[in-house]
Amino acid sequence: MSFSNDVRNELARVMPEKECCCQAELSALLTSGSTVVEFEEDGYSLQVRVENAATARKIFKLFKRNGLQSTVRIGNRKRFGKTKIYEVATHFSADNLSILQELHLIEDNNNRRQFRSHLTRKTCCKRCFLRGVFLSRGFVNRPENDYHLELVFTGEKLAVHVQKLLAHFDIEARIFERKNNLVVYVKESEKIGDFLRVVGASRALLEFENVRIIKSMRNTVNRQVNCETANLAKTIDASVRQIDLINRAMKKEGWKNLPPQFKELALLRIEYPDYTLKELGELTQPPLSKSGVAYRMRRLEKMAEDIIGI
Ligand SMILES: [Zn+2]
Repeated sequence: MSFSNDVRNELARVMPEKECCCQAELSALLTSGSTVVEFEEDGYSLQVRVENAATARKIFKLFKRNGLQSTVRIGNRKRFGKTKIYEVATHFSADNLSILQELHLIEDNNNRRQFRSHLTRKTCCKRCFLRGVFLSRGFVNRPENDYHLELVFTGEKLAVHVQKLLAHFDIEARIFERKNNLVVYVKESEKIGDFLRVVGASRALLEFENVRIIKSMRNTVNRQVNCETANLAKTIDASVRQIDLINRAMKKEGWKNLPPQFKELALLRIEYPDYTLKELGELTQPPLSKSGVAYRMRRLEKMAEDIIGI
């Protein structure tokens, strides 16, 4: 099963405690384009189609909290063959029309149908709204793969609103367009973890963080190994060149004209080809600092080049 589904199944079981939060989450779940509200003789009917059983269950439970009975039907989506589709349907009579108005699914008494932003004023409601958004339109990669979390919207207003809600929790999200949809996405692993924490997916968060820590440790170790390998390669390259220069120069002119401190360094270089300059400095009499050895080595190389005539 996909990690998105794991997260959805977990979120479907997290029920908001407060009335305000219930409305916020239900509102987010019903903002999907598939919600149809129709006027009927004795009130309104509402149908919402979702692709996930857990999400359908959550809508069913939230309706129940509002005192509404609903039915869930399972159908097959024709275009994609096997994919199931879940349709939650309920009926609003004159007694509970206010719920529809509060959710801004129909006009209120003043013929206004506002945007739902007032439902997300409080921090508790912001969390629940984001949870509803993920349940109805969220995807997150398994942490073993590339880090990616996205929420897909058909309208710009809601996408921008959700981006602002995320910013409230210090989660920076970007928006891009994909096939007439707007995709709000988060790439930073730490922020995806924050999202899971904010919406209350604690089990998924634990799994996510475990993998994230292992991955980041592996990266650090790889970086260190690469770095050490690169340094060693540099040392050896330089050493091979130095030994070659020394050998060619000594063959031509012999060792006797070489001042003793340079002769000492030349012999050490030949004896310890894999040592860094710092390590060679520890062997000279008296010991030399890294920069001291580097200076002496440069002069030795220059002398050798002059002798060879390059
Ligand atoms: Zn609330």
